Amino acid sequence: CGIVGVVGNRQAVDFIVQGLRRLEYRGYDSAGIAAIDLDDDVISLCKTAGRIDNLAARLAKHHLVGSTGIGHTRWATHGPATETNAHPHVGQGGEIVLVHNGVIENYAKLKEKLIARGYEFATETDSEVIAHLLEECRRRRLADSKGAPTDEQVIDIVQDALAQLRGTYGLGIMFRQRPDLLVAARLGSPLVVGVADDMHYLASDASPLAGFTDKIVYLADHQIALLKADSLQVRHRDHGAIEHSVEVIEIDA
Ligand code: GLU
Repeated sequence: CGIVGVVGNRQAVDFIVQGLRRLEYRGYDSAGIAAIDLDDDVISLCKTAGRIDNLAARLAKHHLVGSTGIGHTRWATHGPATETNAHPHVGQGGEIVLVHNGVIENYAKLKEKLIARGYEFATETDSEVIAHLLEECRRRRLADSKGAPTDEQVIDIVQDALAQLRGTYGLGIMFRQRPDLLVAARLGSPLVVGVADDMHYLASDASPLAGFTDKIVYLADHQIALLKADSLQVRHRDHGAIEHSVEVIEIDA
């Protein structure tokens, strides 16, 4: 299972599909991708059961455009390896889209609460709970405001949601109204950020970044990262901003 993401000044999809192939060795049963362009007002999705070739074939017919995107290979833990259960998952209303590696232990309780608050679940995964929970936190933080969340509001929303999760996660999160932004968070599931000129990459390990950058930031547990084309902010989930160090490494593709 794995995560690949990118935000920058180029089309995201080819990089993500290639990156997912480089993560194939980790094992998976389905795959998916989401992308948005800076002037789009929806996040587009494509997902398939089975091999990445299936996803690539689907993408060859239905072009997915966007300079910000996330991709996922799933190793199903909750719900069978169907197209519906494949990631990315969408928070109710379409404001938030995410990919998740890991297991949310308290998902049943959270799901019950969210259903009681009117959220409708489309999948059997534990991961979809995070998408609706983020949407619930988004609504609370932004109240009735229809505007795009600021960086600080995005961080608050993500922190509010993460504080309610028990279990493990590597997360790549997109906000429809912030197509310039990719959010990463990790606890018990590896994630690295790649730094390049006007580009930031996200991946479960460095292999998808070979040939794109050799500057890597290893995220630690409890860290949240805000990736934009030209900036990277790393924060501790509970203790605010963290200085991050960029390591230059040699990556074998
Ligand atoms: N628990 C999640 C699911 O079953 C994520 C699995 C994974 O890490 O790929 O969809």
